Amino acid sequence: MLLVGNGTLITQDEHLPLIEDGCVAIQDGLIAEVGGTADLQRKHPAAQFVNAHGRVIMPGLINTHMHLYSTCACGLALKDESPGNFLEILERLWWRLDRVLTLEDVYLSAIAALIDCIKNGTTTIFDHHSSPGAVTGSLFRIAEAARRTGVRTCLCYEVTDRDGAAVVDQSIEENRAFLQSCQQSGDSLLKGLFGLHASFTVSDKTAERCTVLAKELDAGFHIHVAEAEADVAQCQREHGRRVVERLHDLGILGSKTITAHCVHVNDAEIELLKESKTNVVHNPESNMANAVGSAPVLEMIRRGVRVGLGSDGYTTDMFESLKVANALQKHRTGQPGAGWMEVPAMLFAANADLASESFGHPMGKLIPGAHADLIIVDYDPPTPLRTTNIMGHILFGVSGRAVETTIIGGRIVMAERKLLEIDEHEVMAKARASAEKLWQRF
Ligand SMILES: [Zn+2]
Repeated sequence: MLLVGNGTLITQDEHLPLIEDGCVAIQDGLIAEVGGTADLQRKHPAAQFVNAHGRVIMPGLINTHMHLYSTCACGLALKDESPGNFLEILERLWWRLDRVLTLEDVYLSAIAALIDCIKNGTTTIFDHHSSPGAVTGSLFRIAEAARRTGVRTCLCYEVTDRDGAAVVDQSIEENRAFLQSCQQSGDSLLKGLFGLHASFTVSDKTAERCTVLAKELDAGFHIHVAEAEADVAQCQREHGRRVVERLHDLGILGSKTITAHCVHVNDAEIELLKESKTNVVHNPESNMANAVGSAPVLEMIRRGVRVGLGSDGYTTDMFESLKVANALQKHRTGQPGAGWMEVPAMLFAANADLASESFGHPMGKLIPGAHADLIIVDYDPPTPLRTTNIMGHILFGVSGRAVETTIIGGRIVMAERKLLEIDEHEVMAKARASAEKLWQRF
C-alpha cells in the first residue's frame, strides 16, 4: 500500500471537496481510501508514505484531444509563405510534417511529449495520430512510449483519403490491430478509439468501411469536426449537408465518439450531438491560433452536450488550457462572468467522465475505487483556500510547472520534479537529434 499525505487534498468530489492535512491510500493502482493523514497512517503503519509537505494533492489532469507528434514542430521554420488560412496551415505545416515522420520520430516525439505531460501534471491523454509514411506499427510505438513513461493513453490513427488508397488500407488496419490488441491485453493504462481525420478528407466509401469495422470492434471514433468554415463548405458542396449531419448519417456519432472542435455547428447539429450523446472536445488555444473562430461551447453545454477540454497539441499543460478557455468565453460573449462554472466543468467533470468510461474506473476524482492518478502541486496559497473557492485558486494560482510529484495508476513517475525511471535529458537529446533530421526532410 502507498499513502500520499500531509497535504491539502482537493478531491474534486462534491461530497468532500477539501481535506486539510489529507491523505490518499493506494492499493493495486486504485484509490482504496481517502481521509486524514494521521488516521490513515495509524490504519496502515506498514505502508510506504509519500510526504506532500503541506502542498496541494489533487487528481492528475486529463487531455481529451492531443497530437503527441506536434512536439516535432516546436521551433520549426516553414519553407513556404506563411499560411493565410486553416487549409494552408494543414498543407504547409502539419501534412507536410506528418508525411516525413518515421516510426522512430513517432516514438521519440511521443516520449518527449509524454515526459512534458508528466511534468505538467497531465496523467491521461487521448491522442490523435498521423504519420502516413510510417503507418504500420505507429500506434504500437506510441504505446511503447506510454508504457515507458507510465502515462495513461487512449490512441487512434487518423484515417483519411488525402494520402491515397494504400495508406487508407494501412491506417484502417492499424486501428484494427491496435484496438484488438488493447481489448486482448485488458491493460487499464492503454485504450483505443477509431481515428478519422475530418469530414473533408474522408470519402463516404472510406467512412463506411470504418463504421463497419468500428461496430465489430465496439469502438467509438475520434475525429476533427467543423474546425474551420472550409470543412462545412466542402461538406455542403460535396454531400449536400453540414458536417455533423453527414457524420450522423454515416453512423459516426455516439456516446463513445469524440468530436474535436465543433466550432462551426448550428442549432440542428447541436441537437444531433446531444441526441446521440456524442462528446465534443473544445481546444481553445488551437482555435484561436489557427484563427478558425471560437466554438459555441456554452450553448452546447446549456443544451446538454458533454463538452470536454483538449489542447490539440498546443500545450501539454492543461492548467494553461483551463486559463485560456476561461478567458476566451469572456472575450467571445462580452460577459465577464461567462463560463465561470462551465469551463472548469469541461476539465474536471466532462474529461473525467469521458476518461472514466474509457478506462473502466472513476477518474479525475480522489475517491475510493478511482484510478490512482494524482499530483502534488507546490502551491502555498497567498489567500485562504476554502471549499467554496477551490476553482479560483486552481485558475489563478496554479500552473503545470508547479507540479512536484506525479503518480499514475499508483506508480510514482515523478518525485520532486525528477522523473524516476527515465533519464529525461538523454531522451530529449535523442528527440532533438531525430528532429534535426526530420526538419531536413520537411
Ligand atoms: Zn487535432
